[in-house]
Formats: sequence, C-alpha cells, structure tokens
Amino acid sequence: MELFGKYDVVVVGAGVTGIVASIQAARKGVKTLLVEGSGVLGGLVTGGRLTKPTGLVNGGVFKELIDRAAKYKGADDQIRSSYWGTYTGVFDAEVMQRVIIEAVEESGVEVLLHAQVTDILREGNQLKGIHIQTKSGVKLILASVVIDASGDGDVAELAGAEFMLGRQQDGLTQPITSYFRVLNVDIPAVAKDFKENEDDMWELVVPEKEGATNEDYAMVFFATGLTNRIERAKKEGFEWIIPKNHMTFKGGLIPGELSINVTRFHGNGLDERTLSHAEIEIKKQAYSAFDFLKKYVKGFENSIFLEVAPKLGIRETRRIVGEYILTENDIRSEARFEDAIGLINSPIDVHEPGGEKAIMENVGKGYGIPFRCLIPKHVDGLLVAGRCISVDEIAFGSTRNVPACAATGEAAAIAAAYAVQNNVLPREVPVTEVQRELSIKNIPLGSKQDSYNHI
Ligand SMILES: Cc1cc2nc3c(=O)[nH]c(=O)nc-3n(C[C@H](O)[C@H](O)[C@H](O)COP(=O)(O)OP(=O)(O)OC[C@H]3O[C@@H](n4cnc5c(N)ncnc54)[C@H](O)[C@@H]3O)c2cc1C
Repeated sequence: MELFGKYDVVVVGAGVTGIVASIQAARKGVKTLLVEGSGVLGGLVTGGRLTKPTGLVNGGVFKELIDRAAKYKGADDQIRSSYWGTYTGVFDAEVMQRVIIEAVEESGVEVLLHAQVTDILREGNQLKGIHIQTKSGVKLILASVVIDASGDGDVAELAGAEFMLGRQQDGLTQPITSYFRVLNVDIPAVAKDFKENEDDMWELVVPEKEGATNEDYAMVFFATGLTNRIERAKKEGFEWIIPKNHMTFKGGLIPGELSINVTRFHGNGLDERTLSHAEIEIKKQAYSAFDFLKKYVKGFENSIFLEVAPKLGIRETRRIVGEYILTENDIRSEARFEDAIGLINSPIDVHEPGGEKAIMENVGKGYGIPFRCLIPKHVDGLLVAGRCISVDEIAFGSTRNVPACAATGEAAAIAAAYAVQNNVLPREVPVTEVQRELSIKNIPLGSKQDSYNHI
C-alpha cells in the first residue's frame, strides 16, 4: 500500500474538536496532519450551521477563533444567559470558516480533505497508523499518536475499542436534525408575536435594546416553543410531517436571517440507509416547516428559503469506553476530578430518542471532564475527543455540546504532543503537565473548587 506520510500526531475529523486539536498540536511543535472525510473545515459548527455554543467557551483555541470572528463582526462577543445556563454568543458560520482557515494555516497543520479513514494499522495494543480512502486509492498514514475527533469514534472502533451506543434500555439514539436558514424575515414582528403568546414559548432571548429593525436582533434573537400553535395547525388540517412538537429560532448575522431547528429523523447515524433517507426526508420536513411558518407565524410573510445546512446534523453515535465513564450523577452533582481537563456548564440537552420531546436541564456551576474519559481502554497510541468521549447516555446530553468538544480537543492535543516529545504513551502522560498548560491559558479545569467568573 502506498505510504502517504509519517506524522507525530494525526487528527481524524475536522469538526470543532479536530480543528482545535490540530492547531494546538501544531503549535506545540509536533508534525501534525488533519484528516477529514468531507471537504468542510469546522464540521457541524460551519457545515451544520451550529453556531451557538451551549455553555461557556473558556479560553483556548476555540475562544481565540470566536474572538477573531468578532473582529470581523461575525460573532456576538457577549456572554448571554437563559433558563438553562450561561453561554458564549452566536457566530456566523462563514466567518468562522474564514478564521479557521487563517488559524490552521498560521499553525502549520497539514490539512488533508476528502480522505475517509477506513481501516487502521496496529501492533498488539498499539495503534501505528490509519488507512485512508482517497480518489486515487487507499493509502497508509503512520502516526505516533492519533486523536479520534471523528464524532463517531470511527478510528477507536476500527482499533478494537469497546463502545456504547444509544439508550441502555433499547439502544435508540438522539434524532438527526439539520438546521435550515430563512432570509427576509421581519424579526421585530416575530418577536412581537412570540411575546404576545409567551405561554407557548419555552425560551425567548431578545436584545437588551429591542428595536424596530432587523439589525437590532442580529445574532442575539433566540426562541424556542410553538407547541400549541403546531397542535392548532394540525387540528386545522395542516399536514405536519415532523416528529417534533416545537421549533427553535436563532438570529444570524444577516439582518432578517433566522436559522430554524425543527427537522427530526430517528435512526442510527452509523447506518448508510438511515443516513441516505435522513438527507432527503429532512429536506422535505424543512420545506414543510417553512410553509407552516408562512401561514402561522407573523413576520414570515415575505421570507425566502435560503438553504438546508449542507452537513447532516448527527447528534449521537458511538461513545467510546475509556478509563473512566463520566456519569449523569457526576454532572448533576457538579463533580470535580483530580485529573479534570475542563470545566463545563453545558446543560443536559437531550432530544428524545424515538419521540417528539426535548429537555434542557441546567447543570449549575458545572463539572470537570476527567482526562481518563479521553483514553480508550485497551488501545494505545490513541486519544478520543469531542462527541465520542467516554460518558453515559445522559452525561452525553451535556458533553456533546460545542464547549466540551473544544475543551477535550485542546487537552487531547497537549497530551499527544507531550507523549511524542517525551516518548511515552498517551495514557502515561502526567495529567499535571496537561493541566499546567491549560491553566497557563486561563482555562478552568474543574479539578478543585474552581468555577467560572460568570456563574
Ligand atoms: C441539530 C444539532 C443542533 C445542535 N445544537 C447545538 C447547540 O445549539 N449548541 C452546542 O453547543 N452544540 C450543539 N450541537 C452539538 C454540537 O454541534 C456537536 O456535537 C459538535 O459540533 C460536534 O463536534 P465534533 O468536532 O465532535 O464533531 P463533528 O462536527 O461532527 O466533526 C467530525 C468530523 O469528522 C469527520 N469524519 C467522521 N468520520 C470520519 C472518517 N472515518 N474519516 C475522516 N473523517 C471523518 C466528519 O466529516 C466531520 O467533519 C448540536 C448538534 C446537532 C446535530
């Protein structure tokens, strides 16, 4: 098999996790390759239009990217709050793409797009490399350490790591959803409608200084609800084809732009037929929801359908079993850990597997993520980061959010670079070294009683 190259650190997956991890690893001076199956840099935060971190992004590479986007006027640089907690403001997906490209190039990461990892090379328990499928064939990449930031834990699974999938009782996962974007909405009229029907809204965030123009609401407007209205429409004969009883609206950078979260497709995001059906059914749902909005919500009369987000919104697939499994109880009890690598306040955000509902539960002062959740059992030379870390199904409702993905990417990269530079396995890296580096960047660890300034 043709050898593509040999690297110190290979990061698989260019979502927020892999972007943060690869930039951080390269900055530590190790030869780093970022491998991505699609052509998109940023994964769901750019291609999925998931532009509102649920929770605080505390320092580190991703905070730098948000600050950089704010300098282009493409991010809300305020800390906001809602009933489920405090969060870092919204950004624009295209501006985020721009600053990711800038930062990746400055860091010296080599980027390989359109390369899908399909197999691995291992000697005993030690992962030695990955196989990639490219347009010109299958190639081998050798790596001292691989960071699996694929969201799905593909590398870990190929390497033989044990994994969990879905709910314990029936294996069902959270549904697949893609945002769609609408332009030319009269957002002041929408805000007025929602305020007049506040009993049908779960959440309504409006700018401090509300105004009469769309510009006043850009990147701040946020709302969830409309359950009663959907029920009324159904009774009146509107054909509601979505297995979901509410909608979420997010104001974007363009005046009059709203991103809408309502589509829902149930199924296993690792199954090729499910993925294929989801791509098509979700688009049909989005067009139908748009018809509903035009008919039943004030302010949408002259709106224009812009797009369904190009990257399918997979919420949940594999959770790799690591040296520690973070639990619901840890999260609800604001647990602190000696080996914590990031303090997270993202709510428990669970969209009902197989059903119509969703919950967002405040986790108070937040909890620490132990470094052990990044170390798969029985496989060496590998760290997992992002959506696929070692957590139970309810803890996952919190750790799947962007702040936790970014935090784990940051820590995994520091550990991987240390392992390479000191010729040790990732599991042998002294966590105090990782924590020291994170603390220099003012990242709260969740290791003692440390807390955010904002909660
Ligand atoms: C509809 C929806 C709404 C959400 N809303 C919010 C929200 O409001 N706030 C929030 O904080 N979070 C939200 N989330 C969660 C959050 O956006 C994601 O969990 C997070 O962005 C995942 O980041 P990641 O880097 O781990 O994975 P991804 O962004 O999925 O990136 C993984 C990358 O790996 C690549 N890849 C996968 N397998 C392979 C392979 N074998 N070879 C090569 N490349 C591969 C993929 O192409 C992808 O680019 C939402 C998620 C969804 C789906």
